[in-house]
Parts: sequence; structure tokens; C-alpha cells
Amino acid sequence: AQAEIGLIGLGVMGANLALNIAEKGHRVAVFNRTPDKTRHFFETAGDLAERIVPCETIEAFVAAIRPPRPVIIMIKAGDPVDQQMAALMPHLSAGDIMIDAGNANFRDTRARFQRLEGSGLTFIGMGVSGGEEGARHGPSIMVGGTPESYARVEKVLTSIAARFDDEPCCAWLGSDGAGHFVKTIHNGIEYADMQMIAEIYGILRDGLGKSATEIGDIFVDWNKGRLNSYLIEITGTVLAAADPLTGKPMVDVILDKAGQKGTGKWSVIEAQEMGVPATAIEAAVAARSLSALKAERERAEALFGVETAAFPTAFGPELLKDLELALFAAKIGAYAQGFAVMAEASREYGWSLPMPVIAKIWRAGCIIRSQFLDEITTAFTAAPDSANLILTPAFSAMVRETLPSLRRIVSAAAASGLPVPALASALAWFEAYKRARGTANLIQAQRDFFGAHGFERVDGIDRPHGPWGSGAAQQ
Ligand code: NDP
Repeated sequence: AQAEIGLIGLGVMGANLALNIAEKGHRVAVFNRTPDKTRHFFETAGDLAERIVPCETIEAFVAAIRPPRPVIIMIKAGDPVDQQMAALMPHLSAGDIMIDAGNANFRDTRARFQRLEGSGLTFIGMGVSGGEEGARHGPSIMVGGTPESYARVEKVLTSIAARFDDEPCCAWLGSDGAGHFVKTIHNGIEYADMQMIAEIYGILRDGLGKSATEIGDIFVDWNKGRLNSYLIEITGTVLAAADPLTGKPMVDVILDKAGQKGTGKWSVIEAQEMGVPATAIEAAVAARSLSALKAERERAEALFGVETAAFPTAFGPELLKDLELALFAAKIGAYAQGFAVMAEASREYGWSLPMPVIAKIWRAGCIIRSQFLDEITTAFTAAPDSANLILTPAFSAMVRETLPSLRRIVSAAAASGLPVPALASALAWFEAYKRARGTANLIQAQRDFFGAHGFERVDGIDRPHGPWGSGAAQQ
């Protein structure tokens, strides 16, 4: 029998995805640029090998798949994808579907989608989250493409996806780059989530003198409450781990320089392009960049000294509750911002992104999976026209309850000289967002003074310039 689907690229993600597909009962043809990897993959696939068709040429690979042929391309993002598509295309026929499952920039996905329009071939940009483990046992899958091409692959994709409440964490989200855009914002939110957790860890470590294992216990405890999520869970686990070489807590021997592969930065760039404030995500990306300046930070510490003063609040159940609620409030801010970016992109690119569905397919299989996303699904389902998550009845109540804690924690951190950029940025966003009269009136006056840019008046009277006199720009 012919394979139901083909997969190119047997690296970490591709190999695990292929095993997942075979395990769910589908025949899958596989191909890898370096044929040794294909052979090795097939030989180590165990019982699943009976549903795997290893191919060493593109011709054999294409011939092995049932038309119309869906071909998942899971290789290094960027130029390699264009090269692989160019090599594949001469062998495909009308109706065949190329599916880029790597971490593509959604702008590349849009371009690839458009390039194939009218050719008879179609393109799907598919965001896959959950890392190696997700690929093997159930990722969250975000699909962009035509509804017709999704219909051809829906059965396979929903069968390999993670499940939550027995629903697959896989959905068609819109045309062309919709899936990769949503995956990018997922990663932006992931950056913010991780950074805010790290800032709370910093308060406990540097402000309150707690050890890694003590902090680990706190996260384990929080994971039983409203913060319950994969990231809080693994934070508890990694803080408890000891270094096999020195016996010290593992985190204490890890260099404080964070890596990044670009999706966080892309989410900030797209937010800025559309004029959507995503302050917590921006702060998280900047914090990773700042972390990379290790040598400069060492020089600066030698110059300025460490100015951490004693944390103003005594350690105890009350402070712990405040830290938990502060983290929760900031998390609401980060998600509200991420969803606002998607809402604007949906308008800009004509996607009609289904917000409750996005929150739903993130509930399992991906790195930001949590109970919290279930609450977002409910809130957006109940108030589909809400301009922002925090304007929904459910979330506005949570903000009212938790914002005072975020204020107390950010001000205490500031008073003791501890950096909490993502928490502070989330707080500033809340304070500015929920204030009907801000301070941009002064910005407008300044702009009019030096550039005669004009302004609108609160009373609606049509007199768009100020009485600035000499020194001001000529109108
Ligand atoms: P790996 O580095 O493990 O594998 C890379 C694969 O790409 C190999 O199969 C390699 O083939 C192939 N490749 C590289 N260049 C070319 C080329 N020019 N032409 C054809 N094939 C090429 O990568 P991953 O599996 O980690 O990642 C694959 C994709 O998945 C990336 O886009 C990544 O961003 C994304 N992703 C990764 C996640 C992760 O947690 N690792 C999570 C979600 C998405 P060869 O064997 O011949 O070198």
C-alpha cells in the first residue's frame, strides 16, 4: 500500500514526528538529504518500521505516497526549505501539498504560499510546538493554508496531536502564514512566561537569600494552584536537580547567558510593525539579549558594586502569596498582549484567527500549556468581541484581584535594586491601559511645538495647533 503521507528531514523533530505518525497507524514515507540518517532511522524504528517507507531518492519518495500527496518538510528553517521545495517540485503533480513544519518566519510562509498559487500545488505552513517530546508523543499543531489542503491532512494531523479533554490540539487557523504567525506569538508568550518566572526566582534568590532547592519547593507548591502549568512544573524540577559533577544545585553552575533562535524577536518585530504594545514580550526578549552581555555586566558590577538592599518585606506565607499573585497578574498581561497582537494580525492579513480555538490547542502539547489557557478559551468564547483579554468579565475580575500584588512586588524589587523588567513592563502596561486620560497630550504638544504636527482637542473644537510663539515650528 502507498504511504498516507511523506516526511522530509529526519533530524530531531522530523524523526520523532515520523515515529508519531507511524505509531498512530499511518504509513509514512521518509527521506533525508543525508541517506545514512534515513537508513539509521529505519533500522532503529523497531515495530514501527513496518509502517515506515525509507526512501533514498526524491523520485522513490514521491512515488511511495498516495496522491494527492502531502509532504511534510521538517528541516532547518530558511533557505534550506526553499532549496528542498525546488528539488521536490518537479516530481509533484497537481493537488500535492508541501507542508513546512519548521519554525518559519510567517512572511516567508506567505511568500511560498503565494508563489505556488495557480501552479496546482498548494502550501501549508504548520507551526509545531512541544519540542522533541511533543513531536514524538503529541505536539500542538497550528495550521495555515487552504481549507481544502487541510482537509487532506486533517485525519493524520489530528491523530498525532496532543489531546486535552479528548480534543486534539490541532486546528486550521487561517490562510497562508496564519499557522506560523500563531506559532511565533506562542513563542513570544513563552519568552515572557519564562522571563517572569526567572524574575520571581531572582527575588527569592537575591532578595530573600533562598537556595535553589528551597525555591524549587515553592514552585512545586505553586504548581498545585492557579499557576499550574508545564513551565512552573519544570521550574520546580530543574531547581531541585543536583549537578552530578559537583553536587551543587544544577542551576547554580549554569552560566547566566540565555540563547535565542529568533521567534521571540519576530513576535516583537511584528507587534511593533502593527503598533500593538507587547511590553512583557519585548522586555523578555531584551532581557535575553542583556543576559548575553556577560563580560560587560561583569565590568559594570566591578564598577558599580552590587546594590541589592534587603527585601523590604519579610519572608513568610503572606509574601509568598503576593509573589504567586504577582506572577499570575503579570502572566495575564503577557497573554493579553500576545492575543492582542494576533487579533491585529488577523485584521491586517484577513485571517479571522479564532482566539478561543488558539487558546484551546495550546492547552496541551506545547511549552506554554496550562490550566490558565482553558480559562482563556472560556473567556473568549463567552465574550468573542472583546478587544482585549482583560476586558472580558472573567479576566477583569482576576486582574482586580491580583494587580495589587504585582504593584507591591515590583515596587519592593525596585526598592531593593533587583531587576524585574518583564514584571515591571507588564505592570506599566496595566496601569497605562486602564487609564482613560494618559499623558500623550503632552507628547502631542511637544510634537506640535517642534514639528507643527498638530493635535486633536478634547472639546472637539477644530483648532489643531498651539499658541507656542517664537522658537516653535512654523505652521
Ligand atoms: P535538526 O538540526 O535536528 O535537523 C535538521 C534537518 O534539516 C536534518 O534532517 C538536515 O538534513 C536537514 N537539512 C538541513 N539543511 C538542509 C538542506 N539545505 N536541504 C535539505 N535538508 C536540510 O533540526 P530540528 O529537527 O531540531 O528542527 C527542524 C525544524 O523544526 C527547524 O525549523 C526548527 O526550528 C523546528 N522546530 C524545532 C523544535 C525543537 O525543539 N528542536 C521545536 C519546534 C520546531 P541532514 O541530515 O542531511 O543534515
